[in-house]
Amino acid sequence: MREHVKSPWQEALPELLEQSRALSAQGKVADYIPQLALAPQHALGISIIDKDGRVTSAGDAGLSFTMQSISKVFTLILALMDHGERIFDKVGMEPTGDNFKSMLKLELVEPGKPFNPMINAGAIVISSLIRGDTPELKFERILQFIRRLAGDPSITYNHDVFLSESETANRNRSLAYFLKDNRILEGDVEQHLEVYFKHCAIEVNCEHVARMALIMACDGVDPATGEQLIPRLYVQIAKTFMVTCGMYNASGEFAIKVGLPAKSGVSGSIMAIRPGVAGICVVGPALNEKGNSLAGVHLLERLSQTYDWSMF
Ligand code: GLU
Repeated sequence: MREHVKSPWQEALPELLEQSRALSAQGKVADYIPQLALAPQHALGISIIDKDGRVTSAGDAGLSFTMQSISKVFTLILALMDHGERIFDKVGMEPTGDNFKSMLKLELVEPGKPFNPMINAGAIVISSLIRGDTPELKFERILQFIRRLAGDPSITYNHDVFLSESETANRNRSLAYFLKDNRILEGDVEQHLEVYFKHCAIEVNCEHVARMALIMACDGVDPATGEQLIPRLYVQIAKTFMVTCGMYNASGEFAIKVGLPAKSGVSGSIMAIRPGVAGICVVGPALNEKGNSLAGVHLLERLSQTYDWSMF
């Protein structure tokens, strides 16, 4: 532990963050899940945790938000831990180039099999594969896994966000019933959706997610204890999906401009990994037209340019 030594970005971070925050006025907070529309438009926060345990936070890093699609990275990993690479019989490995809720490719190519686990159709299939006899037990396993990685046993899900999504999820419901019709999804569709909506509604802050990202940056090992919490191969698979599909249909542009594996959620959160070095989480609820945090992406671009973070 070298917590007394300042991180290279500690001094510049608040200033860089305030410059990016100005962009939040041009974005739009997601409102297709009514509860998400309550998020503060101009909030912007960041936490960076490096493998020496130094936590550097700025802005609204203490803001609570729901993981939304960031949770898909961890359900993917848990499903891999449950079943190994057999999960790829049911979900593919390719980016779609379409928006995350799109139905288009489900019917166009390889009928019924979602292109990857980061789009909604793929993530719903992954939720259905999590081991557990009931939706409650499946969700409990996901929650325990998240709590362990984030290092906080008090993490839970936001019931209002869960209900709000569940009551309005016409698109996800139609995707799921389409998957059931194609026998990709087996069993009770509503139960699978319940697990999916609940894990999307898990409530965290930037430091929680940065800690989870740090474990991925360390190939699945918790650097504080040396314990292997995720098999290295599954971290590698998840990181690759983050690079190719993690930022919706802006993943290519993000790879060029930031150059880190990252996963975005419609709550305006972004988890990014600096392999071998640090875990990062940014939250800024105002989104750009691709569904990524406008100010959050800008801040990550500035940081990547300033500190030469790109892995490419
Ligand atoms: N729960 C959200 C949905 O299924 C997650 C979307 C996202 O964050 O990309 O629509």
